[in-house]
Amino acid sequence: MKTTATADTIRSKEFFHIPFWLRPETDIFSKRAQRLTQLATEESSDWQHYLQLLASVCNAQHTLLNHYNNEQLNITPKKIANDLPLSTALIIDNRVLIVAMFKELHSLLASQLSQTAKRAWNELLQLDSEKCSQLCVQAFNQQLSLAHQDYLVWVNAILQIIYTHAAKNLTTDIITPLPDIGFCPCCGTDAVGAVIISNGELEGLRYLCCATCSSRWHTVRARCSLCDNSRDLGVHNIDQASKGALSGAEAECCPQCHSYRKRYRLAKQQYADPVADDLASLSLDLLLSEEGWQRAGANPYLLMSKLSKP
Ligand SMILES: [Zn+2]
Ligand SMILES: [Zn+2]
Repeated sequence: MKTTATADTIRSKEFFHIPFWLRPETDIFSKRAQRLTQLATEESSDWQHYLQLLASVCNAQHTLLNHYNNEQLNITPKKIANDLPLSTALIIDNRVLIVAMFKELHSLLASQLSQTAKRAWNELLQLDSEKCSQLCVQAFNQQLSLAHQDYLVWVNAILQIIYTHAAKNLTTDIITPLPDIGFCPCCGTDAVGAVIISNGELEGLRYLCCATCSSRWHTVRARCSLCDNSRDLGVHNIDQASKGALSGAEAECCPQCHSYRKRYRLAKQQYADPVADDLASLSLDLLLSEEGWQRAGANPYLLMSKLSKP
């Protein structure tokens, strides 16, 4: 008998299970470092230096993540009522360790720091554990003040290590979708972007990505990840882009909430990383901003001045 199975009918069968949550990959930071290095070589503007610096930061994060895998971070992931598995308690419970992590991160990066970065680090290294954890909580809540913008990269780098480490140790039974599907079910951060998987059983599916704890979670593509609208969703990209980050980057635009979130087609850019590729495809954001679209997606390394018109 002739088979009429399609991708959809295969997926509807009981044996096909779409995992809601994907655990952070162990080598997430080293892969991101490689991607940033590649994107930096393709960048012709001054932005190249920033991408290169972030590649070094990611390599240092990889080293620290491995180091602290064997050290015991104080992780007590638990689901209490409607609380998220990972909250700012993770920062408070590890405040002494965080001071040590800052010192280690600094020593790994010291030889590559600009004068401005050195000044910021001199201040950071003076902070006691209370002040340090306050700063981390502010960064976690995306409320770092303008006066602390020079700390942005370093504080977020530490947060990513701690939260990624904790997310790696979560069990799926305590992770459930939030009513706002665009927010991370583990730590509540606004998704930096999404990837469209290019192969295997999950081919074609959309997974949103958290830049804080490196989790990925499945949401259906037919719905806006901000307002859940399913009507007249559009996809914008830069037609002329045939290579580099822009060739795989798209923006899902929703006419109901007038917002967009970026997504990356792994079929076009196999190694796309939503944090790195976001930074290398800002011309798409500039275009959409000119057309009046509102950006969604928290990228801890995005300097907002890059999104304003020259
Ligand atoms: Zn998260
Ligand atoms: Zn919407």
